[in-house]
Amino acid sequence: MTGWEFETMVTAKSQDERGHWIALEETHFYAEGGGQPADAGTIADEAVHDVQQIDGVVWHLLERPIEVGTAVTAQVDVATRRDHSIQHTAQHVLTAILEDRYGIETLSFGIGTDDASIEIGTHAFDWSQIEQLEQDVATVIYENRPIHIRQLDVSEVDQTKLRKPTDRTGMIRIVEVEGLDYNACGGTHVASTGQLGFVHVTALKKVRGNVRLTYVAGRRAIRETQSARTALRTVHQTLSTTNETVAARVLEERNARIEREKEVKALEARVAKAKVAAFLQEDNYVITHIGKTEGETLTTMIIERIAATGRIAVGANHTAQKLILMHDGTHDIAIGKFLKRALDDLGIGRGGGSHKQAQARFESVLDLEKATAEVVKRLQEGVVSC
Ligand SMILES: [Zn+2]
Repeated sequence: MTGWEFETMVTAKSQDERGHWIALEETHFYAEGGGQPADAGTIADEAVHDVQQIDGVVWHLLERPIEVGTAVTAQVDVATRRDHSIQHTAQHVLTAILEDRYGIETLSFGIGTDDASIEIGTHAFDWSQIEQLEQDVATVIYENRPIHIRQLDVSEVDQTKLRKPTDRTGMIRIVEVEGLDYNACGGTHVASTGQLGFVHVTALKKVRGNVRLTYVAGRRAIRETQSARTALRTVHQTLSTTNETVAARVLEERNARIEREKEVKALEARVAKAKVAAFLQEDNYVITHIGKTEGETLTTMIIERIAATGRIAVGANHTAQKLILMHDGTHDIAIGKFLKRALDDLGIGRGGGSHKQAQARFESVLDLEKATAEVVKRLQEGVVSC
């Protein structure tokens, strides 16, 4: 059996844009609350998509309605419940240790699909402290402390032990992690701290002057460390590194890349200079045949330099399938409008630009060459109506 099964009766139904909601005579589904998501499961074989408690009534969201009065078999998905209980109980342990040993208060808590997080009232918490915190949590896990859930009248509650004072009256649900935490809580919990398995912090982020601590526990922690190991193994195989050497090696690689980029830029500038000199020997008003074999940045560099000499530069970059036109602003041709008109007439490419520069992209090199030929022809014939 994958679920925790119970028999009951539908007592009410309603509908909204999310679907059909039903209430039951008796329910074991946990309604979303206190940072813990709703249980999953089925009612009469219909998947339960959400559970919300409104004015004391627990509503279960289904795709199809079930009539009031229908006897139904319901199943709470045990794996989801256990996972939520583990993440939630891990929060009790983290909160208790952070407060009692570090003097840091937990401000909020939430369980997401992949991880859970708490916002803690400090502006400085670093990774060396996290390592110690994880060790402290591990000790509590190994001690396998029992967790007791008790429904107590407010008069029976030991107010001196309560982590947060409560102003509630009547019956209060007290959750006690033996020797560690004593708290009023309506969530679901595991029976002892050993069931948490492993609690692993995955991220620290500064938010609103506090710190958001993201963690995973139980099977989520196993999945997370497996995924991290897979990623790290790829890096180790690629760079021939170990856990001890990888950080230095990655920095080394980054610095080497920055150096190479500088070299490439310097080389590109030299190539551009030489190519520009060769183009200018043609002494034409329109300079074409730029960009066929170069990278896009080099093409742009050459075009800018040619345009700066007062000529109209036409560059067709084959790698980017891009046409670039430019002049120095002293010509009468509004090059953006001119290019757009030529493209509209040809029915290919997309582009436009300003008075002195324009760009267009094409779906194929063939289209790029066709457009380039047309643009050059119009420029040389002086067919520039705007
Ligand atoms: Zn709780």
